[in-house]
Amino acid sequence: MKTTIVLVLLLCAGLVAAKDGATTKPRVLILTTGGTIASRSDAPLIRGPELVQAVPQLLDYAQVSVEEFSVIGSSKVTPDHWLRLARRINEIFASDEQLAGIVITHGTDTLEETAYFLNLTVQSKRPVVLVGSMRSSNEVSADGPANLINAVRVAISDEAIGQGILVAMNEDISAARDVWKTDNRRVQTFDGVNVGHLGAVDPDGVRFYHRSLQPHTLASEFDVSAVSTLPTVLVLSDFTGLDEAVVKHFGELPMDGLVVRTFAGGRMSAGMLAGLSSISRRGIPIVVTSRVPKGRIVSAPDYPFSAIVSRGQQDNKARILLMLALTKTTESEAIQGIFNLY
Ligand code: ASP
Repeated sequence: MKTTIVLVLLLCAGLVAAKDGATTKPRVLILTTGGTIASRSDAPLIRGPELVQAVPQLLDYAQVSVEEFSVIGSSKVTPDHWLRLARRINEIFASDEQLAGIVITHGTDTLEETAYFLNLTVQSKRPVVLVGSMRSSNEVSADGPANLINAVRVAISDEAIGQGILVAMNEDISAARDVWKTDNRRVQTFDGVNVGHLGAVDPDGVRFYHRSLQPHTLASEFDVSAVSTLPTVLVLSDFTGLDEAVVKHFGELPMDGLVVRTFAGGRMSAGMLAGLSSISRRGIPIVVTSRVPKGRIVSAPDYPFSAIVSRGQQDNKARILLMLALTKTTESEAIQGIFNLY
């Protein structure tokens, strides 16, 4: 991780009327991590300060400071990255009560996972908004600058307070719990698959139409301040004709928990069923998710082993919730309670 480079862009203009007659503009910290929003074809990733300086319009809305947290494509993000990011955000909010909000620039590939982890571990109701782009900064109609401006506008919006971790992309605002990257190319890739978007960033203002009801941030029971390493949770995807031996072999790997990506409704192949029975005998909590994006697994089939059923969380987010649950308990019943709640 690059050492923290703090560059405060204090805007003298911050003294001119900002919004609603306020004399100084709200302060926002932009934490940069990398991703396409910081990329340009055949050149290294753009460093944090340069990324922010390239969008002077940000200063029409806020006093902006920038901290470079990492400079990576998001496929290189790890659970240790999540832990350090959550702790850094909690540290910043604890030491700066006047800060209106935080914007995190991030690659879009794993943005939904980082957002969900922070949704369960950030201990503040102040806005934290993740943003990225689908086009590099030197592509025609690059979407990065507009996305970054909109993310800052959400971060200073009073309506965003207490909404949990948000994702602002393509003028849409989504809740971290429900957002998915749904398209490999198009700028409108992020969608709240089961519940739609929470709101929108329009030219005339930031609007919220819904609230996320599952517990998050201050209402979350997960405190990672003393967690040095997250439990190891693996993901195994089912497929037609999967051989039991493959599952048993996979089951010999060191793990604290397992997430299984099944067919619709929690139904799985004979090989997966048989293989999971032997893994379950090791006392490893097994969480069942569906590969089908919409709807919940309501009545899971009877499994010949004890399984926890995810409540609409897709496999990559169920992995995160199981990791955090395992920092508190290994009891399947208690973990099921956590999956029913979050
Ligand atoms: N490869 C990129 C990433 O870091 C994709 C993107 O940001 O859109 O996730």
